[in-house]
Amino acid sequence: MKIAVIGTGYVGLVQGVIMSEFGSEVICVDKSDEKIEKLKKGELPIYEPGLLELLHKNQKAKRISFTTDTEEAVKNSEVIFIAVGTPASEDGSADLSALLNVATEIGTYIDSYKVIVNKSTVPVGTGRKVISVIEEQIKHRNENIEFDVVSNPEFLREGKAVGDCLRPNRIVIGTDSEKAREIMAKVYNVLYINATPFLFTNLETAEMIKYASNAFLAVKISFINEIALLAEKVGANTQEIARGMGMDGRISPKFLHCGPGYGGSCFPKDTKAIVEIGKEYGEDMFVISAAIAANEKQKKKMVEKIKNAVGNLSGKVIGVLGLSFKPDTDDMREAPSIDILEGLIKEGAKIQAYCPEGIKEALWRLQDYEESIIYCADEYSIANGADAIVLMTEWNQFRGMDLNKLKKRMRDNYYFDLRNINIKNEKIRQYFKYYPTGEKYVE
Ligand code: NAD
Repeated sequence: MKIAVIGTGYVGLVQGVIMSEFGSEVICVDKSDEKIEKLKKGELPIYEPGLLELLHKNQKAKRISFTTDTEEAVKNSEVIFIAVGTPASEDGSADLSALLNVATEIGTYIDSYKVIVNKSTVPVGTGRKVISVIEEQIKHRNENIEFDVVSNPEFLREGKAVGDCLRPNRIVIGTDSEKAREIMAKVYNVLYINATPFLFTNLETAEMIKYASNAFLAVKISFINEIALLAEKVGANTQEIARGMGMDGRISPKFLHCGPGYGGSCFPKDTKAIVEIGKEYGEDMFVISAAIAANEKQKKKMVEKIKNAVGNLSGKVIGVLGLSFKPDTDDMREAPSIDILEGLIKEGAKIQAYCPEGIKEALWRLQDYEESIIYCADEYSIANGADAIVLMTEWNQFRGMDLNKLKKRMRDNYYFDLRNINIKNEKIRQYFKYYPTGEKYVE
């Protein structure tokens, strides 16, 4: 099968590589020359474990190629995936400009029946908009070409994207067309004949499944974070609360880890977008709105906690471990570290930070604070002369650090473990004034 993927970012690139791995002939398009040039040379523009090997393997087999030429890609494929960004607009609604531009381009170049598959996360009703944009372009050319639009939301997790696409929990296909369903079953043939659950539904339902899933996960995180704030005050242990809750099959222990608040390219924008969709249709999304507010509060609470423990932060040096919104990615979009570092710097603190993959992104996302941040070459250097350490992101390499070596470099010895990676380490309290998350500080 010949497949085009328009938008070669975190989703489009992984999707393209995996579909070539499944045997299709894939052409990936992006408007960024820089990205396409890198990819043609076999280099990755993003950090995603396991992706490079698969890219090389399929490039060698000539099953995947890269171009900036949308026309060539549209004309040479039977199925066209759209995986461009749908960031939040100023009012919180999803900005569909990139997606609708791509729809216009497809309408301009389409020359025979094709299935257009939307992988981007979009408000309900967008699939129908894409249909009318393409129809309008075809009509404009006085032609009569058939096509179908499918909603096929993506559920991959950055950092685990390769495994998630090779072995997804489910594939959701939203379309009214029987022909398109059959073609989509062929696209995902490898998964279809294995045990992967497929859900065939209409466009609107598929679009809503994605937002509902992300909003639910965001609610779960905000819920346990709120419980954690209370637990710290009443002397309860949030990890045990989560375990106790999770033993109930109706609740499940997953996504019940307290921390500094959710971030990344999806939860913040998708929760805001569904609230805006609700407004458009006259429905208040009370639960999701509360999750958003709780998440903002959570980030502020982290700064407050550090300030309450350390005292006046003016001139204090804070070593930060991890900047990316989660481990195994270079993605810094709406990472909690951005707000927390900003809060600490506004209190007068100086930051020494290290992140295995996030520094390149942090350099421009935090450029307003460049005078207050030193980016370190390794994880131990963040402790040099520091008053406190803040463990922001749970990269594996931070788990087994030599605590004595770390402490020896410091001026004072506060350790704020925002991800609780050291909570079970018996030695941690010998070396540090250790502040876990969701548990009372004990001397
Ligand atoms: P991204 O910003 O990493 O990638 C989007 C790419 O599209 C960019 O490389 C951009 O240059 C390209 N692009 C924009 N307009 C174009 C055009 N007209 N022609 C060709 N290329 C164009 O975004 P992403 O993280 O991959 O997200 C894409 C979509 O998938 C979003 O809707 C997002 O919500 C959704 N999603 C993301 C994730 C995730 O973890 N990142 C997971 C599930 C769903």
